[in-house]
Amino acid sequence: MDYLPLFFKLTGQPCLIVGGGEVAARKTETLRQAGGLVTVVSPRLTETLADLSVQYKIEWKQKHFAPEDLDGFKLVIGATSDRLVNELVFLAAQARNIPVNVVDCPELCSFIFPAIIDRSPIVAAISSGGASPVLARLLRVKLEALIPPEYGLLARLADHFRQQVKRIIPDAESRRRFWEDALQGDVADLALAGREEEAAIRLEQRLRDNNGKKTGMVFLVGAGPGDPDLLTLRALRLMQEADVVVYDRLVSPEIMGLVRKDAEKIYAGKQSSDHSLPQPEINRLLTELAKAGRRVVRLKGGDPFIFGRGGEEIETLMAEGIHFQVIPGITAASGCAAYAGIPLTHRDYAQSCAFVTGHLKDGTIDLEWERLAVPNQTLVIYMGLQGLAQICTGLIKHGCPASLPAALIQQGTTRHQRVLTGTLADLPDKVAQANVKAPTLVIIGEVVKLHQKLSWFGERSEE
Ligand code: SAH
Repeated sequence: MDYLPLFFKLTGQPCLIVGGGEVAARKTETLRQAGGLVTVVSPRLTETLADLSVQYKIEWKQKHFAPEDLDGFKLVIGATSDRLVNELVFLAAQARNIPVNVVDCPELCSFIFPAIIDRSPIVAAISSGGASPVLARLLRVKLEALIPPEYGLLARLADHFRQQVKRIIPDAESRRRFWEDALQGDVADLALAGREEEAAIRLEQRLRDNNGKKTGMVFLVGAGPGDPDLLTLRALRLMQEADVVVYDRLVSPEIMGLVRKDAEKIYAGKQSSDHSLPQPEINRLLTELAKAGRRVVRLKGGDPFIFGRGGEEIETLMAEGIHFQVIPGITAASGCAAYAGIPLTHRDYAQSCAFVTGHLKDGTIDLEWERLAVPNQTLVIYMGLQGLAQICTGLIKHGCPASLPAALIQQGTTRHQRVLTGTLADLPDKVAQANVKAPTLVIIGEVVKLHQKLSWFGERSEE
């Protein structure tokens, strides 16, 4: 971080602008909006600035800049078109320890202006550290669309009730949850619709009903196949609001890096050969955490309802009367197929697609081979690395051509993605020699042929 964003209290503070042109006029407006008392030093003023100086009662010193002009000011902006004058402003300000910004000259600045989204009292500042002000402005446009103007109203409402809420809910964590619920639920809906009074009534009501008892909740969240960019917006929001996150081996460190910093993180492991926490214990853990009033995110790789035991986890919660929500994620089949350029269905090659677990029980695979070994169907095998040879042989034995294309995708959607392609006959050998790393997904069917043509993600592709 080259610059630390700080919010400067400027109300009533004397600020100096050196220069009398359009840039000076823009900066005058910004400083005035923040309540600064502006003085302009310049031999001349453009018409815009002259108008502003009347409107805002700005003091104009009609003269060339001299270092003594800085005495008594708390902030200075150099906005002349003369490099020497700008340098003089910078040096004189530095000598007096006055924060200084020379417009469009990062090397003559002790602070820089961000692109601002003003929803006072909510203010967002975006900066590219001078690298690309245009990019910062483009980002501002995006964020402006996300933050409706009424956010200011919501913040003022929260401010109004802040002390009262603090008195009634002394426990900091309960208070945070109260605000999170209020500021995202009906209170926020009303305030953002401009119905300020109703929002206030609703907030008071919530405060009365809040008897200090914490109500926990579990969110069973799909974290997608690996690339953090493939998280849903809701998954991200819940991860950032969680008190505690219980996560699996498949959830990558990059994704865990997006969890709220002070949330407790509990690793529940789970690998076919190493169950760090047996399923009943995970179920019990979730129940206990929620009963203790915590907001629990149970984060799972891919989608929680696809080979994720999500059903079992919420069955327990349901039996215990605990509130929960399920948030879908992009399952490995979708993620790997997309990033490997292998469409799971295709009008010419596959009209159906089956998701199958290749997990071995006691060293054998128990699958309904007749239903799987049919033409025009894509098979996606989860947890199929160890049983790959058995799966391929089984399919051939039940009528699939040995030449049927097959692919193995390692660590799909991540920068370690690797795709091995072959046929039912030769893929197991290729994989055995390739030192592949978990997790891996197998896709079998004519659609695999399309990989050569449609592969777009810059990964290693091997035959
Ligand atoms: N609920 C998860 C699947 C859990 S089972 C989902 O919807 O994706 C675990 C298996 O998923 C792994 O053995 C592997 O076959 C597959 N898998 C998960 N993420 C993967 C990835 N990034 N690349 C390849 N396979 C993956």
